[in-house]
Amino acid sequence: MACPHCCSTRITKLQRTTNLGYAVFYCRNCHCTFNERTNTPFNFLEFPTDIVFQVLLCRLRYKLSYRDVAEFFLVRGFEFTHETVRDWEERFAPIFADELRAKRKGVIEAKLQRGVISGKMCQGSPFFDVIS
Ligand SMILES: [Zn+2]
Repeated sequence: MACPHCCSTRITKLQRTTNLGYAVFYCRNCHCTFNERTNTPFNFLEFPTDIVFQVLLCRLRYKLSYRDVAEFFLVRGFEFTHETVRDWEERFAPIFADELRAKRKGVIEAKLQRGVISGKMCQGSPFFDVIS
């Protein structure tokens, strides 16, 4: 990990964490402290990043309504409004989709390396010929 302010790798992990449990680091080069979410789109959220991704999964994969998702997470102890869900979807859905595409591409590449996928492709078709 490198310092998000000066890109130095002379960092030290501090004993304390953020309120959400993210590790805090100290840069010995620029004397700044930062955490795992500094300079990410999730930096100032009041909820853990994995909860935001779970909310997006409920919205995009299971097609739950904004209010249903908010109610579902209220049962689990996370209190936010349907407007928050809408805002998160608008802000983070493109990032979420990119992560899923990267994972899917990684799975396909891994299968190609193991010979699970023959690699046959029709001209201009994105579909692979799956053997197993
Ligand atoms: Zn620094």
